[in-house]
Amino acid sequence: MGDNLCGVCQKKETEATCKVCGVALCAECVREVSVENPGQRVLGVLTSPLKSGTKKQKVCATCMKEVDFVD
Ligand SMILES: [Zn+2]
Ligand SMILES: [Zn+2]
Repeated sequence: MGDNLCGVCQKKETEATCKVCGVALCAECVREVSVENPGQRVLGVLTSPLKSGTKKQKVCATCMKEVDFVD
């Protein structure tokens, strides 16, 4: 047990931080969302299949519901 307890369940150690509200998240409480990244698109052409224009962000369950990550 340490000082870095999850801010949601308060039971497990923090492994990530919500990108939106900054709350500490354990492995069970963290949620991953795919975020569109329009900046990756150059003149409507994708420069690389690997840069598909989306990236993952770690957020808490509350922010995942409240924030519209698409656009
Ligand atoms: Zn937790
Ligand atoms: Zn959050």
